Amino acid sequence: MLFSSSTHQESSSKIVFQSQLETSYLWRTSSSEERIDRLVKIRNWIKEHQQDIRHALKLDFGKPEPETDLSEILPVTAEINHSIKNLKKWMTPKSVPTPLPMLGTSGKIHVEPKGRSLIISPWNYPFNLSIGPLISALSAGCTAIIKPSEMTPNTSELISKMVSELFRTNEVAVILGEVETSKALLELPFDHIFFTGSPAVGKIVMKAASEHLTSVTLELGGKSPAVVSEDANTKDAAEKLVWGKYVNCGQTCIAPDYLLVHDSQSDSLLMEMKVAIQKMYDPEFKGIEQSPDMARIVNERHFNRLVNLIEDAVNKGAKISFGGKSNPHTQFIEPTILTHVTEEMLVTQEEIFGPIFPIFSYDKLEKAIAYINSKPKPLALYYFGKNDEQSEVIKQTSSGNVVINDCVLHYLHTELPFGGVNTSGIGKAHGYFGFLEFSNQRGVLKQRVGLNNVTLLRPPYGIKAKQIIASLIKWF
Ligand code: NAD
Repeated sequence: MLFSSSTHQESSSKIVFQSQLETSYLWRTSSSEERIDRLVKIRNWIKEHQQDIRHALKLDFGKPEPETDLSEILPVTAEINHSIKNLKKWMTPKSVPTPLPMLGTSGKIHVEPKGRSLIISPWNYPFNLSIGPLISALSAGCTAIIKPSEMTPNTSELISKMVSELFRTNEVAVILGEVETSKALLELPFDHIFFTGSPAVGKIVMKAASEHLTSVTLELGGKSPAVVSEDANTKDAAEKLVWGKYVNCGQTCIAPDYLLVHDSQSDSLLMEMKVAIQKMYDPEFKGIEQSPDMARIVNERHFNRLVNLIEDAVNKGAKISFGGKSNPHTQFIEPTILTHVTEEMLVTQEEIFGPIFPIFSYDKLEKAIAYINSKPKPLALYYFGKNDEQSEVIKQTSSGNVVINDCVLHYLHTELPFGGVNTSGIGKAHGYFGFLEFSNQRGVLKQRVGLNNVTLLRPPYGIKAKQIIASLIKWF
């Protein structure tokens, strides 16, 4: 569905939103089978249109087909399969133990769909980050309006086509448009908003949601550090870091943003990283620009922003240890490694979100930890090393997720919560955790009729009631 003028958009958004009210009531009582049918429809559509998805991503920012399969299609189909397998269990009310003062009652946790949801998604994994949350919304029994990114028009159009072929607009709808469209949608009293994007826009979303006290999931970004310790295997770490950084041309929310390497390992790591880049992106020495496996920067604005990050760093004393070249005609930027980086440089101040890897070295782990803790809490933290520093790093820092001896990989783990903390996000996505974000966990307490424990605690408060209350305070 595509809306044109902004006033038309506004009223159309409202109409679609209102039309989903009745469905949201109907879906409240939907069975796991009915919800699974909706997921299966999406899975089948993806299977039949895999080539269309690859093509759209190629047009939007030259995304290599294997990367589309791996990072746009696989996470979504894995999410669908995981939900299908577990949905019945997730939906079943869970009994809880009865505390002594509640003797004679029974307690259960029911999960009910929150109702009408809004999904606002970014451009960097445009298919995955629109449809992934939709799987959670549908699993939970919610209706959804999706507002995909305007920066990847081909993929957004394709998402709109998919949704209009599979659902009526009073069930799931896609509303295409720019920031104004998003703003108009944010004025509506949704029951849940699932936003993926920058921390700056996350604040706008949260502010708008507070008008209606709508709950939010904010999947945001930031600067995720990677630490390579004294006893890390530098070849292994380099290969993993190079892939994690340069997949999607660095335009990944959980890409390692910067690297902290132990002094004793920095030369070896740097050398191994160069070897790994060459091996992955230029095995025949034709130049990395010729590689079919390197995506492009999404648009001119981001291209200029990234080139400026390199120039600013170099002007302030950074050294380009690898790469540094760019081509404005193709929006290509070479995988770039910067050393001699300082705090004054823009590259250490803002989320890089591109193929630039600044490297700092450290002599003592405490200093690396102190540096990480001096910054806002990151979305992910990566530690490479065999030793017991692992648990120190986990205990002494905070981040959305931690990966030991790898990076980025946790995104594909359907059993782990995925998300940030404070500036890197609020709430969790994926599997059961995504299902819960779109659900209200409702405590249901059943009391028996007539005489029960609590009857003894009613006024007038005689000596017996006072004794019981005193013992409750003492023992519970
Ligand atoms: P963005 O915040 O600029 O845009 C995201 C969405 O918000 C888009 O659909 C856009 O139209 C809308 N939007 C933009 N400005 C708005 C405004 N003023 N009011 C209302 N809506 C507005 O983010 P982006 O550039 O598309 O994506 C990059 C950011 O997303 C990075 O910070 C990255 O780290 C983050 N990200 C996070 C995750 C995650 O899972 N945590 C995943 C991908 C990207």
